[in-house]
Amino acid sequence: MVASANQRFHGKVVAVTASTDGIGYATARRLGDEGATVVISSRKQRNVDRALAQLRADGIKADGLTCNVGRKEDRERLRDFIEQKHGRLDGLVLNAAASLHFGPALETSEAAWDKTFDVNVKSTFLCCRDLLPLLESGGSIVIVGSITGFEPDSNIGAYSITKTALLALSRVLAKELSSREIRVNCIAPGIIRTRFSEPLVHAGLPKNMIIDRLGRPEEIAASIAFLVSDDSSYMSGESLTVSGGMQSRL
Ligand code: NAP
Repeated sequence: MVASANQRFHGKVVAVTASTDGIGYATARRLGDEGATVVISSRKQRNVDRALAQLRADGIKADGLTCNVGRKEDRERLRDFIEQKHGRLDGLVLNAAASLHFGPALETSEAAWDKTFDVNVKSTFLCCRDLLPLLESGGSIVIVGSITGFEPDSNIGAYSITKTALLALSRVLAKELSSREIRVNCIAPGIIRTRFSEPLVHAGLPKNMIIDRLGRPEEIAASIAFLVSDDSSYMSGESLTVSGGMQSRL
């Protein structure tokens, strides 16, 4: 049976990391609205409880648990939870990130640099590697990058560099997983109204936006849903910029 246009994820199980707020939550909600069973997670139990209650109140099939992507035991717990509850994954959205320093890049402490790289690059890789055994052939992985991966923001230098690294990680994984018919793509949001972007917005919006407003988490969720779905079946190793037209490449 062909899934109807607005139920692209009927019968599918998709995990979204860092999904109790902002872009991750909006993504879980969008996937769930289109029929997916979503597995959500983040560091704090109260956030997981609140997000689960909201999703379920809206009729979405959701479960979840705490998972700090930087902790091995948490990633393993997430994998075991999904395996026991669902036995497999059809989609995986790797959304967690940290930005520990706001200001000139050369003033970034070694500890802030290390933590930013640990959460954004290493944990994204490890999360993907740990959950891969659950991913079905035909599955889709989406890594949440950033426009700053193409056009670094000098106030968040280390963060920007990690987001450039994620572009390469997406391509490396896409090549390695093509024989298993698993696609891997990256999404590069512009400035989206969330708690995370508050310091950036406070510093002033860039002048090079074509759509002269902040993006909404739901607008990124719609594009992530496209990348998770079979509607993007001929895309792998690619990156999709959703930034209101900010300059990002030639
Ligand atoms: P947000 O609204 O601040 O939400 C962050 C979410 O991540 C929360 O659910 C938080 O819950 C969870 N979280 C934070 N650290 C975590 C960790 N180590 N492990 C697991 N969960 C964690 O952030 P957002 O703006 O939606 O950002 C989401 C992604 O979009 C990030 O990858 C970010 O780089 C990217 N992005 C954002 C923008 C933007 O303008 N907002 C632009 C480009 C890219 P807990 O506190 O409970 O952990």
